[in-house]
Amino acid sequence: MDNSKTIETVNNIFTEYLKENRYRRTPERYAILNAIYSINGNFEICDLLQMLEKEKFRVSRATVYNTITLLINANLVIHHQFGSTSKYERCYGSEKGHMICTKCGKVTEINNINIKETITANIKKFHLTHYSLYLYGICNKCHQAMKRRKTRMNKNKGQ
Ligand SMILES: [Zn+2]
Repeated sequence: MDNSKTIETVNNIFTEYLKENRYRRTPERYAILNAIYSINGNFEICDLLQMLEKEKFRVSRATVYNTITLLINANLVIHHQFGSTSKYERCYGSEKGHMICTKCGKVTEINNINIKETITANIKKFHLTHYSLYLYGICNKCHQAMKRRKTRMNKNKGQ
């Protein structure tokens, strides 16, 4: 799906959600939604605030938090907890994974992982809209460091 079509769809979903729940449809809320959908990958609240400020859009931190909560409830944004860091990400139509290093906490995104068929083959009576996958392990940098440490320890033993 091209991006302009996605933007149009998510704006419509948000409008429906706000109407249904009798929330006000303010320009701030739409500006936050559109800013989030212009970001590829995950972000922290401070990144989003900086972005909105650059576009000369003044919104309070409280409004951003409040709107993100609405967007999570509308299934347009997901929240990731990577260790002690809270990150957010657009999720409409999203099919991606995150590799998380359990040593240093580094998060690497994997896009277009072709496992949708495997997933859908294993689920019944469920209409899948989007998914997010967390893969835990050791990143290459930490793996190399661990190997070097092991070699050093073995050398010391030999002396
Ligand atoms: Zn690591």
